[in-house]
Formats: sequence, structure tokens, C-alpha cells
Amino acid sequence: MSSIRQFKKVLVANRGEIAIRIFRACTELGIRTVAVYSEQDIVSLHRFKADEAYLIGEGKGPIEAYLDIENMIEVAKRYEVDAIHPGYGFLSENAEFAKRCTDEGIVFIGPAPEHIQMFGDKVDARAMAVKAGIPIIPGTSEPVDTMQEALRFGKENGYPVIIKAASGGGGRGMRIVRKHDEMAEAFDRARSEAKSAFGNMEVYIEKYLERTKHIEVQILADRYGHAVHLFERDCSIQRRHQKVVEVAPSVSLPFELRNEICETGLRLMQAAGYYNAGTVEFLVTPDNQFYFIEVNPRVQVEHTITEMITGIDIVQSQIRIAEGFALGDPEIGIPGQSKIKSSGFAIQCRVTTEDPERGFMPETGRILAYRSGGGFGIRLDAGNDYTGAVITPHYDSLLVKVSAWAITYDQSAQKMFRTLKEFRIRGVKTNIPFLENVVQHKDFLNGMYDTSFIETTPELFE
Ligand code: ADP
Repeated sequence: MSSIRQFKKVLVANRGEIAIRIFRACTELGIRTVAVYSEQDIVSLHRFKADEAYLIGEGKGPIEAYLDIENMIEVAKRYEVDAIHPGYGFLSENAEFAKRCTDEGIVFIGPAPEHIQMFGDKVDARAMAVKAGIPIIPGTSEPVDTMQEALRFGKENGYPVIIKAASGGGGRGMRIVRKHDEMAEAFDRARSEAKSAFGNMEVYIEKYLERTKHIEVQILADRYGHAVHLFERDCSIQRRHQKVVEVAPSVSLPFELRNEICETGLRLMQAAGYYNAGTVEFLVTPDNQFYFIEVNPRVQVEHTITEMITGIDIVQSQIRIAEGFALGDPEIGIPGQSKIKSSGFAIQCRVTTEDPERGFMPETGRILAYRSGGGFGIRLDAGNDYTGAVITPHYDSLLVKVSAWAITYDQSAQKMFRTLKEFRIRGVKTNIPFLENVVQHKDFLNGMYDTSFIETTPELFE
């Protein structure tokens, strides 16, 4: 039997564009919103977009403030919030935080702590995929602790290989090793980097697959065993293993293959007993084999484009699922897999305050003039998008997510290009000129790109 507890007040344990995105979802559902902000975010827009806002992490660093579990719980209790939405990054993949919320009687808008735990460790996630009969990239089934094991893997499986931090994320904690002689140094470095970046030195090793596409499947699941996929996104346009431009649906894969990938992603999440929103990521080789890489147990930066092709509000669905609604309930309005339709094509560009002419160095300073693009089929999600905003070095450099939707892929790309051209941002440099080159490039337009596109296309920097 379903037990429903509708929220009156939700706290968003995050900042920037995603905090504002979640406030909007709450407000439309008639839920009061609570922002938290660090000392460094005293004038940040997300603070002013909520019904209430409270300082957290006083005397702590800019990042640490948003990781302060005790303070977060204290604010949530003092101001009587029903639930906390963690957004992405910060505490979103912290199983201890999810558990603390539940223990304190506050609903964590996300999956169960056990799911966060399992998918947060990529070695455990691979084991789960194997159990569900889902293909994984040939690799070690346990963390690799010694150099001898690492060298043995290289010898037995051949190079190139990739050393990955078990707790890694955000494209960090990965090292490609192209030959035997490079292994020793790479292995030591990978472990010490993993330790300093993620507090866990465990690494594992996989075959490095050349020229793959990154295809991921959006899943929504309720607490009663119903789950659906919302089709796939192609996130192959990456720089240093980080996504820059995303497309939904994928344009160059055969229809049957896309279908199979979506069904496989769904099967994994069902086998895991997962609930709320999550993404299953795969790599697809040039001969159309696909392999599981990881699960992200949270809302993703690029969820916007899936919303545009399906019309389904993923953040509102997360909230309704956390309240205890079943997927088929009119309150969520998700009709069942066969009735979920994908329509048109959506592209998202991550506009950052980075200078493409100087190796994408983050910029800081005041935005002296800000005028954005817009128009039919354009969606903007931003944190501090106004004249006078100060870009500090404290947080990641995402300035605004520009998403474009149109009936055909080509129209969507043209709409994106036209919108990027309309932007006028003075005072800080952005990656807009680079993004314009990407969405106008012939390989982008004919869908012939893989994860090496940016690295192997020097004309994007002209
Ligand atoms: P993160 O959690 O840091 O995002 P992922 O495991 O999702 O790391 O990988 C990020 C990107 O790194 C992938 O989209 C892909 O481009 C590249 N990558 C990861 N594993 C491999 C692999 N075995 N072979 C080739 N590329 C890989």
C-alpha cells in the first residue's frame, strides 16, 4: 500500500542554477522553499529565489559550508522542513547524509542510502551490473592494490588501459596508460590523486576503449517497483572526460540499439531495487557494442534536454516519488513506458566562465554587461546571470545552461548557434565562441562524433 506524505516545505542543500531549478519545481507544486547559502554566496541569486534563506557553515570554507551535514540538518529541523533535495555534487551522493536525514524524520529526495553507497563505489556498481547480466568493460572485479596486479592486468589484457578511482566522479581520478613502461608511475599517481581528491585511494583498471560514444539512460522509479526510462542522451562531447554539450535523443545510433541500451539501463535499476531519478551510463564502441560504466544516483546537469523531448519534469517527479506517489498516479502523471514519447531533438551547451584561448582557465571578476539569448525553443538555467554579478574562484565555472529544442536535430543545432550568438557577456570571458564552433562543426551536425571529438578537432579552437 502506498503511504503518501505531501511536503509543505523543502530545503535545497545546494547553490547556483540547480538550487533555482529545484525551487521552481517546488513552487509549481505549491511547496514552500528554503535556501541555504555560504558566507561566500551572500549575494548569490539562489538565496533570493527561495521563500526563506539561511546562512550555513559559518567560518567554514566555500565548499565545506555546503558539506556541513550537522548544520544542514540543524537548519532543516529548526525551520521545520519536510524534505531535503540535494541537487547534484556536494551532498547528493553522500550515503551518510541521506541516512541522517531519514533518521531525523526528514525525507531525502533521492534513492536509498544503500543505493548511493553501492553506486558511489564503481567496483561495487560493476559487480551489480554483472549480477544483472549487463555487459561491463573488461576490467578488474576488485580494487587493485599492488603494482604487480596492475602490471599483470596490462599484460593479460593488452594496452591501452584506464586506471579509475573507485570513488571517482566528475571526470576526475582517471588515467589512461598506453604502454607497459608508463604503468608504474601512472598507478602510483592515480592512487595518490584518488586519495587526495576522494579520500579513498582504491583504484581499479579497465580496458581503455577507443572512439566510444557516451550514451546514458534516464530512469525514474517509484518506491513500489515501477520503473520507466525516459530515453537516452548522447554526452560524447567531452573535454577531459567532462561533458560540454549533450544531445537527446542520440542521433547516430540505430534505433534498435538505442532501444536495447534503454531497456538494459532500466533492467539494471530494477534489479537493484532502485527508486527516484537516476542515470545509467554506457560506452558504445564503433562496432555498436555497449558496456556499462556507472550509475549516477541523482539528478544530472543535463536532465533539461530529456525534459524537453519527453515533456516530463524530472525534478517534480523526484519530489512526488519521495512523497510516496506511484509513477502512474495523476499527481506524477507518468503514464507507463509505452505511452512515454520522445519528440524532436534537444541540445544543451554548458556555458562556463572559462577562457578557451587560455586552456579553459577559469575567469573571475565582475560581469560588466549581461544579455542572454532566447526565443522559441530555448531554455536557460543559470545561477548568477546578471550585470554586476561577481564570479568568484570558489565554485565551478558553470554560468548558464543553454538548452535548445526543435523538431529536427539540424534545426535544434541552428537554434542553439543563433542563441549563442545573441549572448553579450562583458567583463569575464566565456567558452561561447568555442561552443559556437562545436555546434556548427560538420561532424557535430552529422552526428559523427565520439568522446575524442574535442581533443582531435583543433579547428574548434580557432
Ligand atoms: P565520472 O564518474 O568521473 O564521470 P565515468 O566512469 O562516468 O567517470 O567516465 C567519464 C568518461 O571517461 C566517459 O564518458 C568516457 O569518455 C571516459 N571513460 C571512462 N572509462 C572509459 C574506458 N574504459 N574507455 C574509454 N573511455 C572511458
